[in-house]
Amino acid sequence: MSLHSSEECRVAACLCHARADAGELRAMRDANAINLSRRGLLRAALTGTAAGVLAGTGLEVLAPTAARAQSTLSPAAALQTLMDGNKRFVERKPTHFEEDLAILKQNTVEKQEPFASVLSCADSRVPVELLFDQSIGHVFVNRVAGNIATSEIIASIEYGIAVLGTRVMMVLGHSSCGAVKASIAAKAVPGQISSLYRYIRPAVDEAGGDLVGSTKANARIQAKLLRESSPVVAAALKDGKLDVVAAYYDLASGKVSLLG
Ligand SMILES: [Zn+2]
Repeated sequence: MSLHSSEECRVAACLCHARADAGELRAMRDANAINLSRRGLLRAALTGTAAGVLAGTGLEVLAPTAARAQSTLSPAAALQTLMDGNKRFVERKPTHFEEDLAILKQNTVEKQEPFASVLSCADSRVPVELLFDQSIGHVFVNRVAGNIATSEIIASIEYGIAVLGTRVMMVLGHSSCGAVKASIAAKAVPGQISSLYRYIRPAVDEAGGDLVGSTKANARIQAKLLRESSPVVAAALKDGKLDVVAAYYDLASGKVSLLG
């Protein structure tokens, strides 16, 4: 297999993502300057031996240092990597199965460098890595019913940004969300379930009780909360190291749509 483009690649640590100039990469590929297997390249990048693999090809300068590529992605590239993965998921063309999970596991035992944080609902129909066609070590996933930014969730997200270096933070609402439905109904429920309501209530008020509208408003509100309430998030945004986005996952189509 020829050297692939970053659009084709779902592995943030891959060599292709180390190139800021996608056009140059494309030109090299078109010129058939190198022919490395994807798996070989991934293995080399993850084991920090890309320079060795590329020795003599004239492309040594492209070799990333060990496992640095994820945290050096731009926020825009990190978001695009997520969205490209969702496109593959929707088209039923996932590639994460091609990854050598044994190598990924081995190289993430000591440390992790996920490129994205996702705050999603705990709903069993929203398996985050699967719907973004990602695997071990790539996404720092925070899940709680209603994808709400509680103080503990904010703390977890701050860890992902400040310590692990995630470059995009996505709040992901989804269709048919039980937590939003329950907040709209606002009926008596057992235990502490109703403690979720107060976080979702502003969205319900904003959308007038419409389920889809409330769910999308909730994702936007939680994203705004993160941007404005966390000094860690605010500083990363100010430095251009992070983007915070809200998105909506449609259970029927499998598609993730960014919310403006
Ligand atoms: Zn839900």
